[in-house]
Amino acid sequence: MIRKLLVVLEQRDSRIKKTSFEVCSIAAKFAAKNKVEVVAIAIGDEITNLSAVSDYGISSIIHVKHAGLALYSSSAYKKIILNYINKNAIDYILLTNTAFGRDIAPRIAARLRFGLLSDCISLEITPTGFKAARPIYSGKAIQEIETIGNKGIATIRANVFPAAIQSVSANIMVQKPELIDLSNRTVEIIKSDGKIDVSEADIIISGGRGMKGPENFHLIEDVAAILGGALGASRAAVDAGWRSHSEQIGQTGKTVSPSLYIACGISGSVQHLAGMSTSKYIVAINKDKDAPIFSVADYGITGDLFEILPVLTDEIKKLNNRF
Ligand SMILES: Cc1cc2nc3c(=O)[nH]c(=O)nc-3n(C[C@H](O)[C@H](O)[C@H](O)COP(=O)(O)OP(=O)(O)OC[C@H]3O[C@@H](n4cnc5c(N)ncnc54)[C@H](O)[C@@H]3O)c2cc1C
Repeated sequence: MIRKLLVVLEQRDSRIKKTSFEVCSIAAKFAAKNKVEVVAIAIGDEITNLSAVSDYGISSIIHVKHAGLALYSSSAYKKIILNYINKNAIDYILLTNTAFGRDIAPRIAARLRFGLLSDCISLEITPTGFKAARPIYSGKAIQEIETIGNKGIATIRANVFPAAIQSVSANIMVQKPELIDLSNRTVEIIKSDGKIDVSEADIIISGGRGMKGPENFHLIEDVAAILGGALGASRAAVDAGWRSHSEQIGQTGKTVSPSLYIACGISGSVQHLAGMSTSKYIVAINKDKDAPIFSVADYGITGDLFEILPVLTDEIKKLNNRF
């Protein structure tokens, strides 16, 4: 019997997010390796890049379209997704481990009584459902877990799996929702000045209490600008009112996994590491050679960030000019 897998896509501002394309790539691999039938569902109004889903190996795309669904509504989205799953006997569901995925996945799992594996950094289909690895205890250990009963839902950590191009033809079916329950809905999304969102960024430069004040963050903004990266912050910097909460990385902030994470004046508390320790390359700048951040760093610079950051900026500019 062919098993069925549903990818629940995430859209923001009428565009499918990059992290959803990563999830599509995983689903496409399962389709080839485990012979599962894959369908992706997107809920929203206009979605300008929906056909791009087929660049990541999924041709069957359902678009549940309605102006009232442009912004996320947990009540409406849940009912639409459950309706689709029940009608189509879906066995596996994949989502991003973003605020959207973390909100909707448990609601669906509880209703269906499917096992939920969240924040996965590896995932496979087994005879009993899904088997995954996920960081626990603020990233200090990796837990291996699996679902039972041949069914499962998993949310995938961003930037861990590549969004691999594998173009197939797109077959987009637009449907009207049967019911729209907007009892829980997003009223407004307040944008952070058009800056790159840390949870989507491939390069992040973060500042902590060692930055000494909001007026000094231009030093890391300069590095972020020339590297095309996003600016992050420790909770100490956010609690002090120097940076906005949308930039906070860690246990009570965002979980990120960029290719490059540069931590400036951040000590490396377990709560901060919980949000960034799976980054591919970590660079730490700290004047304390015993700071815990150095235990996870691939490259460490011991010294005063106020001397180091301007030099770093100049050197990167020189490199950029050379190539
Ligand atoms: C329940 C809970 C949840 C939490 N969630 C989070 C979270 O999500 N994210 C988070 O970040 N924290 C979180 N915290 C807070 C966390 O425990 C730390 O207090 C916080 O991460 C410290 O931030 P920091 O590294 O910027 O500051 P500090 O720990 O004060 O470190 C500042 C560092 O800057 C260095 N420094 C100072 N001056 C310079 C200089 N001139 N040049 C170079 N280096 C310099 C110092 O050597 C020091 O290592 C949480 C705490 C709790 C209890």
